[in-house]
Amino acid sequence: MTEDGLPDDETAAERKMRFLFALRSRGVTDIRVLTAMERIDRGHFVRGLFAERAYEDMPLPIACGQTISQPSVVGLMTQALNVQPRDTVLEVGTGSGYQAAILSQLARRVYTVDRHRRLVREAQDVFRDLGLVNIVAMAADGSFGLPDQAPFDRIIVTAAAEDPPGPLLAQLKIGGIMVVPVGQSDTVQHLIKVTRHETGYDYEELRPVRFVPLVEGLGTE
Ligand code: SAH
Repeated sequence: MTEDGLPDDETAAERKMRFLFALRSRGVTDIRVLTAMERIDRGHFVRGLFAERAYEDMPLPIACGQTISQPSVVGLMTQALNVQPRDTVLEVGTGSGYQAAILSQLARRVYTVDRHRRLVREAQDVFRDLGLVNIVAMAADGSFGLPDQAPFDRIIVTAAAEDPPGPLLAQLKIGGIMVVPVGQSDTVQHLIKVTRHETGYDYEELRPVRFVPLVEGLGTE
């Protein structure tokens, strides 16, 4: 055993079993989501010092002062999004690219945007290496969505907004679902599921979460 109580001679298969078991025990039960998370190895999306912690259920630092989300939160958000095989999905907040890679297994096409060009470039490299050809990643301020590619069947925001951004609500198809963390940064945020109907929007509060804030404009890196 290592200091943190984890077996040090664990094989890759055992590590994967433990990873999937932790997801299930935290409420990720949708078999399609679990299968996607089994296929996409989180180890590809965590670099440097933290790489060896990639299979633990915790957020980890990535470049540009951002974080890769906790796997169980990625699983629960993906599950809430209820992605269908023909869907076009928009993700705001590419970060490491991990969430987009999971979505790429479930959707027809995934657009993902980040305000940091460096994160977009690094994620594109991983998508290319893994052959994930249905992801389009670009640098943009995602609070405005992607008007040229709209409307979307599903939208997922992986940074916390004070309110669900108006342009994103407008770019959601009727019948579409958006999952977004809402609240002030560093205080209580809640994951909100928004469903668009013919006549308006339904809001459902899912669980408390903690995300980095949605920031206006493009980053300097
Ligand atoms: N989904 C990521 C984690 C995202 S962390 C993953 O799987 O690793 C949140 C990301 O949102 C950060 O990379 C940050 O740069 C980005 N972000 C914050 N505000 C943004 C905005 N207005 N437009 C686009 N991206 C934004």
